[in-house]
Amino acid sequence: MGATGYRRILLKLSGEVLMGEQSFGIDPDTVARVAEEVKAAKDTGLQLCLVIGGGNIFRGMAGAAKGMDRAQADYMGMLATVMNALAMQNALEQLGVPTRVQSAIEMDKVCEPVIRRRAERHLEKGRIVIFAAGVGAPYFTTDSGAALRAAEMKCDALFKGTSVDGVYDADPKKVATATRYETLSYDRVLSDNLKVMDASAVALCRDNDIPIVVFSIREQGNILKVLDGSGTFTVVE
Ligand code: UDP
Repeated sequence: MGATGYRRILLKLSGEVLMGEQSFGIDPDTVARVAEEVKAAKDTGLQLCLVIGGGNIFRGMAGAAKGMDRAQADYMGMLATVMNALAMQNALEQLGVPTRVQSAIEMDKVCEPVIRRRAERHLEKGRIVIFAAGVGAPYFTTDSGAALRAAEMKCDALFKGTSVDGVYDADPKKVATATRYETLSYDRVLSDNLKVMDASAVALCRDNDIPIVVFSIREQGNILKVLDGSGTFTVVE
């Protein structure tokens, strides 16, 4: 199927997308480039929700592996996603794209709280809404946050921008014969434990009939090709 005909999508980007060639943190040039991609998608007339991870700054699991309390470390991870959201808001607004950040952890000096009806209004007015802090609870990830917001905002699809152009039957960076799936069922992703998104996020998309479109955000212009169906991607549906 082509990923065409969507009215409203949620775009999920992992935090690592923002670090560019760095091994950590936020690279402003990369954020600016990704913001151009996001603007190009919006300029097609799409209503756009955005969720950005925090893995470029802090991951709860990594903190827990070094002896931190898991929940405490997860809250730090959620704060990292707010920093990424603010960086992306800044880059989008420098391109003239009106943007609002809504955080699942209230932080009224820097952004709005998550209010669904308000987010709806922002989208109607042509603003991009960036949802930060995941679901606002530890033991979850921003993939689950993306699936949750996609469901409550009634998005037609969840676009997952990664460093690979879809889902393969083996790691394409290691196995030369690895082949990309055009489509996959939610159940196959779950039963074969394919690394598309967390199981809880995939299950939430399955239960709410939200297709997951996996594509590469690293190549300039790719998002438009995926939107018109001419690019390479995998659809989980
Ligand atoms: N996190 C959380 N609950 C959420 C969303 C995120 O606890 O609802 C924490 C968790 O520690 C996670 C970190 O925030 O590791 C950063 O998010 P994620 O790992 O999803 O970022 P990504 O891999 O997409 O960059």
